[in-house]
Amino acid sequence: MNIGLVDVDGHNFPNFALMRISAYHKAQGDNVEWAMPLFGNYDRVYQSKIFTFTPDKTDFDGRCEVIRGGTGYDVRSQLDPLMECITEMDYSLYPQYPFSIQFLSRGCIRQCPFCLVHDKEGRIHSVLPAQLNPNGKWIEVLDNNFFANPDWLASVQYLLEVGQPVNLHGVDIRIMNEEQAYWLNKLRLRRNIHIAWDLPALDLTDKLREVTRYIKPYKIMCYVLVGFNSTIEQDMYRIETLRSFGIKPYVMPYRDFENKRTPSQYEKDLAQYVNKLQIFKTCSFADFMPRKGFKCSAYLQKAL
Ligand code: SF4
Repeated sequence: MNIGLVDVDGHNFPNFALMRISAYHKAQGDNVEWAMPLFGNYDRVYQSKIFTFTPDKTDFDGRCEVIRGGTGYDVRSQLDPLMECITEMDYSLYPQYPFSIQFLSRGCIRQCPFCLVHDKEGRIHSVLPAQLNPNGKWIEVLDNNFFANPDWLASVQYLLEVGQPVNLHGVDIRIMNEEQAYWLNKLRLRRNIHIAWDLPALDLTDKLREVTRYIKPYKIMCYVLVGFNSTIEQDMYRIETLRSFGIKPYVMPYRDFENKRTPSQYEKDLAQYVNKLQIFKTCSFADFMPRKGFKCSAYLQKAL
């Protein structure tokens, strides 16, 4: 068969599903390539789309079988079970990326109201590690909630055996204990550990105090979701608490799944203030002037 692939979102990050589809078809002896709308002649085209806001492509409709998949089309879409169970990955599709992407678990123990992971992947469960990029120099570990996986220690052992630097994307400090922190410190971390304080109703102060006893705060970066049922006062509380522990906050204005929501000017100004380290370190939010003649103290006064 002649198989064409379309990474509808563009080639900004390796697409896990397409690498797996390609590896599967190549193992069957099929020809696989990036689909060429003008010259390509295919029996089947796979289109993958992660983001709902990316416009669809219709170049191959009516010309061959077209299989569309990915959360951008349907949050519950799944790969063909025959492909889902293989661990081979075709990294030759993305020679420009010098790293591997890996999942050691899928799903999550939580159901945060702004997140689709539980709907898409269900309860947390471990998965077999996929093949790594033969030219990869580090691993992006994309587990949603790495330490909630009952087999997290096996995941750590796997990463230690591979021995490459890792970026851990989903660390939930609400469940972190001393043993997990011990093993986290054993990993070769390439960048900061990313945690999140998304829900203002949860006060993570005590947990942050505990975690910073085990992990040096400068190694931690904490996402702070704003614009999803939080007040300015709650946003400032989270940001200033993180500052007091020496943890770098990173403000994320809320975007809904369909990307229909536009962040408010306050959310954009807060993100600009917090996410630019130089500004965050040298002035208070009240004194920050994102535009000529406007000082952010106006937001704080309104909130009082
Ligand atoms: S902990 Fe993270 S991955 Fe899990 S439901 Fe909440 S936001 Fe989603």
